[in-house]
Amino acid sequence: MKQLKRTIAIAACRFLYGIVRMAGFGGSAFPGSVANKIDSHLLAELAKNVQVVLIAGTNGKSTITHLIDRCAAEGGLHAFANLSGANLKSGVITSFVLNSNLRGVCRQQYAFIECDEFALAALAQELRPVGILVNNIFEDQLDRYGDMTAVLQNLISGIQSAPDARLYINCDCSYSVAIAQAVPNPKVYYGCNLTLNPAPQHNSFFCRSCGTKLQYEFHVLGHLGAFYCPCCGKRRPAPDYCITWADCREDGSSLCITAPDKEIALQVQLPGAHQVYNALAAYVLAVAAGIDSARACKAIGAVKNIDWRTEKIGIGDCRIQILLTKNPVGVACGIHTLTQTSGRIFVLLGLNDEAPDGTDVSWIWDAPYEMLSGLLDRTDSIYVCGSRAAALRMRLKYAGIPAGKIQMAEDDRRLIRQLAKKTGNVYLLGNYTYTYKIRALLRAQKACTKNVHKRRARKACTKNVHEKRARKKFCYEV
Ligand SMILES: [Zn+2]
Repeated sequence: MKQLKRTIAIAACRFLYGIVRMAGFGGSAFPGSVANKIDSHLLAELAKNVQVVLIAGTNGKSTITHLIDRCAAEGGLHAFANLSGANLKSGVITSFVLNSNLRGVCRQQYAFIECDEFALAALAQELRPVGILVNNIFEDQLDRYGDMTAVLQNLISGIQSAPDARLYINCDCSYSVAIAQAVPNPKVYYGCNLTLNPAPQHNSFFCRSCGTKLQYEFHVLGHLGAFYCPCCGKRRPAPDYCITWADCREDGSSLCITAPDKEIALQVQLPGAHQVYNALAAYVLAVAAGIDSARACKAIGAVKNIDWRTEKIGIGDCRIQILLTKNPVGVACGIHTLTQTSGRIFVLLGLNDEAPDGTDVSWIWDAPYEMLSGLLDRTDSIYVCGSRAAALRMRLKYAGIPAGKIQMAEDDRRLIRQLAKKTGNVYLLGNYTYTYKIRALLRAQKACTKNVHKRRARKACTKNVHEKRARKKFCYEV
């Protein structure tokens, strides 16, 4: 009876997944939620013979999941990852179902699962992970999560339900370290010994043990860095894997990782200095899974885009670089990437307040938009777009950006058509739903432009044929 229920749940999930895809939707949460209703033990059953690694953290978890998935493919591991970004339980169920047969036996040996901070407790209980990575904890969507204490407590209780899981912790993040130090699990620390982004700090950070304001030997980015508490002596643990040199450019980075037994040179093609953290985290996971170091480096170095999050789309003579920015530190990283460019650029800032973004956009007041003033002599206007464009315009005004430099773009389609006529580099810094929507419009515009070019080429070709025929006729007549 149990087996029959399981098979029905798997079949229903696959069928619904197919329907959802045929309808043109990318989401995979709905089929998983139906399967879970039919068989509430399905996920635990599907995962029971799989070595699962959970990947958590406010920023970078999707990128790390994509990178480790490429490493696993390069290293010949029988593995899968939830690359759709559906990181709640229902989406994870769908990923497992798609990698299992109808009897409920998973065909893969490893699973690298991106995991929402608040879903980790439930997922860890059912998946019994062998590893949990916490890349960082930043303030993000606190209207959904409550406060930082709630986020930390949820992660701790999740890890407590997997006492044998090895923890992979960013040692530069005082929050992540506080989580690691609250549990007895074995730990691997990774970090960076360099300042990657000198953006100013709007907030202070306090010791989780005694409440004293933390001091820093150096900042890496945001509140990440070599922190220490002047009162109780708690400090950043020594990293096992550390970035000891980095050359970060707008289009990628070169870095040196000091590992316990050697030094590794790694090339990253993803834009933005913050991506070196994600590359390091993926490398650490790859080596822990037994993937050869050189193969891991090759796989990470080959990745140019992560879906729509850091996608580059060319339309005519215009190159549009999308950079997902969904919280203050994301904005700091995005604008810092712009400061590494040269020549004239066009800047678009998009802000929506739909459910996936978080309906409270007051975080923009903690984001360092003041950094944009360094770009004003290289850009004609800064376009603000999205359903909360007005709030963004107000924020830019208080950041000291002259009103004449700020333009409200009320119609996204018209904006895209305008961009398509421009020559140069456009940078779009937007949050989830805005970035996703604009990416769809850009792709449609690209297809349209391509068709126009094809039609022109066909017309030119036909014209040539007519000319040739006319010339031939003329010759005969002569
Ligand atoms: Zn302290």
